[in-house]
Amino acid sequence: MSETQQRLLKLNRMASPIKTKLAYDPVAHATWKEGESIPYLALAHTLRDIEQNSSRLKMIEILSNFLQSVIYLSPKELPTCIYLMLNQLGPAYQGLELGLGDSIIMKAICLATGRQESHIKSELKEKGDLGLIAETSRVNQTLLFKPKPLTVQVVFERLKGIAEMKGQSTQSKKVERVQSLIVACRECEARYIVRSLSGKLRIGLAEQSLLASVARAFVIVENYIRKDKNFSPESEKFKSELEAAAEAVKSAYNRLPNYDILCSVLLEKGIDGLEEGCQSMISVPLKPMLAQPSKGVEEVIKKFGEHKFTCEFKYDGERAQIHRSESGKSYIFSRNQEDTAGKYPDVLREIADYIKPETKSFILDCECVAWDVQEKRILPFQVLSTRKRKTVDDDEIKVKVCLFAFDLLHLNDKSLIKLPLQDRREILKRSFNETPGKFMFAQSRDVDQLEDIQEVLDEAVKNQCEGLMVKALDSTYEIAKRSQYWLKLKKDYLEGVGDTVDAVVIGAYYGKGKRTGNYGGFLLACYDDENEQFQTVCKLGTGFKDEDLEAHTNFLKEHMIEKPKSYYVYDDSLRPDVWFEAVQVWEIKCADLSLSPVHRAAVGVLESKKGISLRFPRYLRVRDDKKPEEATSSAQIVEMYNSQEMLQNNNTENRSD
Ligand code: AMP
Repeated sequence: MSETQQRLLKLNRMASPIKTKLAYDPVAHATWKEGESIPYLALAHTLRDIEQNSSRLKMIEILSNFLQSVIYLSPKELPTCIYLMLNQLGPAYQGLELGLGDSIIMKAICLATGRQESHIKSELKEKGDLGLIAETSRVNQTLLFKPKPLTVQVVFERLKGIAEMKGQSTQSKKVERVQSLIVACRECEARYIVRSLSGKLRIGLAEQSLLASVARAFVIVENYIRKDKNFSPESEKFKSELEAAAEAVKSAYNRLPNYDILCSVLLEKGIDGLEEGCQSMISVPLKPMLAQPSKGVEEVIKKFGEHKFTCEFKYDGERAQIHRSESGKSYIFSRNQEDTAGKYPDVLREIADYIKPETKSFILDCECVAWDVQEKRILPFQVLSTRKRKTVDDDEIKVKVCLFAFDLLHLNDKSLIKLPLQDRREILKRSFNETPGKFMFAQSRDVDQLEDIQEVLDEAVKNQCEGLMVKALDSTYEIAKRSQYWLKLKKDYLEGVGDTVDAVVIGAYYGKGKRTGNYGGFLLACYDDENEQFQTVCKLGTGFKDEDLEAHTNFLKEHMIEKPKSYYVYDDSLRPDVWFEAVQVWEIKCADLSLSPVHRAAVGVLESKKGISLRFPRYLRVRDDKKPEEATSSAQIVEMYNSQEMLQNNNTENRSD
């Protein structure tokens, strides 16, 4: 018998009535029995309860209760439940997505319920949610056999089957399959299945809360239900255990973002097994280390203190994480862990040319930059962004690229992330060969004086770079963290023309005059990752070209919602004409930040009733590479506000000298 089976058996043998001080009993309160397939209704009820709650802690408790039952009674279905909760059909980096058009779903609802499409269309205009419409439309198909109740596994397989059907000719088959799913739905199941099908589940559950719920469920099942019957959820011991477990689960997931592997390690080895069981792995993109913005050269010196540091050029391209296995298979992922092999077939083919014979397998962190072959120089980001997303033929490649490698995270079956940067950089240079114009090491200089930083910065700007990345030489690779050991020093900051913020569009105002017919202004929010809320940070109406406005209007129209989400924080005086799902991030430039009585970014942090807002915001571009939860956070807005204040104080001090 395998270790897994033994462990699961141990857990399942405990599946008897449980007496703890917990209100939830994972066996008695579950709606299915040990070893049975999990009914989809149990998952749909959990989604509904989460949707009705806006408190993050309550959401975590609800989800963790359900997961305890899953771990206890049907552990093999744990990853499937997680994927359904997140509206994913597998690991995010595999990119299999659902996004059925409204027309297919409407046809299926008509067939299942006998309703007319025109009625459904007008109801959709009013409610903006096909899920609710499917739930409230009664199925009146005459059925010879009552369909079997849906299970989690069946729903997952069927959703996956539909997503894998490609091409126009499959339309009618898709309608048929959706119809048969709807016919089998009970209670609120149709709401969530239809929303999943259209790729708009959005119940307000952030992935970080899901990971915290997984940790909580395992801590309770492992430590308390089985061993300590006097356990109390209020005890300090439990709280600190929970905190450590959540940290362990989150960092394991950041190293290896794959729920199938995470769950199997947790089920086999428990929380303590994560450190060893979830190490970086070739073919699974790990979350990248990120940098903090910094205001100027003086601030860099101040922040690093005793740490020795290096100034690397900050290239303006697209981040690329390149993996290669021992068998010679290569992969390339974006900053968001998206597989970009289709965009960079040339890079994948040529990567083998740059490796030394001893280099067998690796994970490389680099910036992929547009390159002028004739002039032998870097081209701006705008040129790179014209590269097609999918290239089949080499002749189609008009924009050539050069890789600038700046870190090595994994070499020959060993993770390097715990090594200091100095060592990683040395190993990087030992393991690869530079080829000018194709593969180069990020240019850098180790400096310790203010004047030297300024000199490297000028050099970087002259070389078409955005500025510098200043990195502590003794720092480890801090996955998924905006680390204080990496500071970005952009040339813009120094010119004093203001900072850029990545904000999420959550609403719009109808355009007037020349803008009639399009949206003319927008309401933007930053993301408060502590409370999982989108908090408004500015209204935006400048910086757009006419074609931008039209493109934004067409795109955002598709994401309209009837009313704001419970996790949008705004003042009523700013209420927009239309609300949107939080789906797109925009880069905004502003003159400075100020305290605001109406905007809600970081509300209460600096002054009890005031938030922070951007002054004179201008639109720059869409940040396709960022998810809404990766927008500038409220904490960062506070930091930007504070460092601006500090700078102003310094300037005043200088002036009074
Ligand atoms: P930002 O997107 O402004 O937060 O800047 C961080 C990005 O700069 C990273 O995600 C990389 O794509 C890019 N970058 C360019 N050069 C470097 C470098 N030498 N080290 C790290 N990141 C770099």
